[in-house]
Amino acid sequence: MKWLRLSERSNLPTKVCKICFKEIGDKTLFNLTHKEADVCARCFQEIKMHFFKFQVLGYNAISIYRYDEKVQSLLYQFKGCFDYELLNVFFERFSRELSLRYRGYVVVPVPSYKQDDEIREFNHVEEMFKILHLPMRKLIAKTKKIKQATSTSQKRKKIGEHLVLTDNSDLSNFKILLVDDVYTTGSTMKACIKLIEKLHPKKIEVLVMSKTENK
Ligand SMILES: [Zn+2]
Repeated sequence: MKWLRLSERSNLPTKVCKICFKEIGDKTLFNLTHKEADVCARCFQEIKMHFFKFQVLGYNAISIYRYDEKVQSLLYQFKGCFDYELLNVFFERFSRELSLRYRGYVVVPVPSYKQDDEIREFNHVEEMFKILHLPMRKLIAKTKKIKQATSTSQKRKKIGEHLVLTDNSDLSNFKILLVDDVYTTGSTMKACIKLIEKLHPKKIEVLVMSKTENK
């Protein structure tokens, strides 16, 4: 008689890590205590949450993850093929806490160039922050494609010129939460804040999925 492996014996589908696709062993302490995680202990530890608090133009901002190679490749994977499973890896652990913290806010996503979204058929920033279950208003649009990584600092300063308000309604009854996936120089976020300020919201806060270490 041949000994069957646990997964065969129990007839349960084998759990596979959503990040590295390796089988998740049931016997590690991590997987006994993080049954809902669906990522292996190694990957879980590699995505470094830092909940870093900082300020953008005097407004409170929080970044959830440190933007490193692991987070970068996860984001790339997420942008390339919209994947709810991956979204869960990013947010599931604390979506409740974030929904409560930002209760009463209206989410405004930092825009990407529309044609990019059309190719992709979804906007990853919008999809990502839907998990907060807050009302969302796309108040800002990007009118021209600018590649952050290749642009010079001079060009970056001009980013604001390519961002426009899509709606000029007064926001004095609203608290606004500006959201984005990656925060590097902050120039795009600052340009968005300046646009939103024109609509006089009660409050502005910033939430980003990840931020580079500097500053
Ligand atoms: Zn893994």
